Amino acid sequence: MPELPEVETIVNDLKKLVIGRTITGIWVDTPKLIKRPDLKTLERQIKNLKIKNIRRKGKNILIDLSNDFTLLIHQKLTGHLLYGKWKIEGKKITPLLEGPLNDPINDFIHLILYLDNNYELALSDLRKFAKVIFDKTEAIENLKELKELGPDPLSPDFNFETFKNAIKSKKGKIKQVLMDQKVIAGIGNIYSDEILWWAKIHPLKNTASLTEEELKKLYHYTLEVLKTAIKARGASVSDYRDPKGERGKYDEIRRVYRRENQKCYRCGTLIKRIKIGSRSTCFCPNCQKL
Ligand SMILES: [Zn+2]
Repeated sequence: MPELPEVETIVNDLKKLVIGRTITGIWVDTPKLIKRPDLKTLERQIKNLKIKNIRRKGKNILIDLSNDFTLLIHQKLTGHLLYGKWKIEGKKITPLLEGPLNDPINDFIHLILYLDNNYELALSDLRKFAKVIFDKTEAIENLKELKELGPDPLSPDFNFETFKNAIKSKKGKIKQVLMDQKVIAGIGNIYSDEILWWAKIHPLKNTASLTEEELKKLYHYTLEVLKTAIKARGASVSDYRDPKGERGKYDEIRRVYRRENQKCYRCGTLIKRIKIGSRSTCFCPNCQKL
């Protein structure tokens, strides 16, 4: 699933590509992606609206449009937004541009916004779990899932106290607490594994037993890992690609995520994988002791 660094990369790229453009139409082949309004209403209302801004809230992408409308896209497990041109013939959708958009992972186009420069903004989503909501900006801002988001690690007031209070507000295994969007917004399976490896904290450790020193390390590496990942333009171990269809480079520098049975970069011990809830977690049993 795209996490904060991937969504941030998409938002930053799209800002340069589509702000100021007008939406001339929409094509959808999987209406269930649109949570509201119904497809007919959406088609009618979104036409001729201008893209004024693009923002990130946690893992959500908010596209602010003219007439006080906002289009929210949550890419969920395998969704990613692409910028290009496509040809639709029956069920077959082919990219019209050469290059990385032709990567088979970008083949699952289920929604297209047509723009007034003859380019298109498309949602590729293999598993079709993405969520799209179109409404007045105020109604989007008031969505429960946005209101409940915890502090954002990139916000200027995300200091150690904010972080500590957030983590301590929730009892449970640190791995799960880090991924809880109501505690801190934007972190998922990839970056929680990475942060915990860097901070040398066992993923099953209970938040109640974290020392001040461990919390300080966690805070430091939360920022460090996320910022490094943004610089690398995200991780493409799974389906994520940037708007031009290109891979992020964090895969090459990741330390522990999906490295089961490979040597720990710090001590050489084999990385172990366990399940926490339904999620796989990788960690070094030597560096990260319970
Ligand atoms: Zn190790």
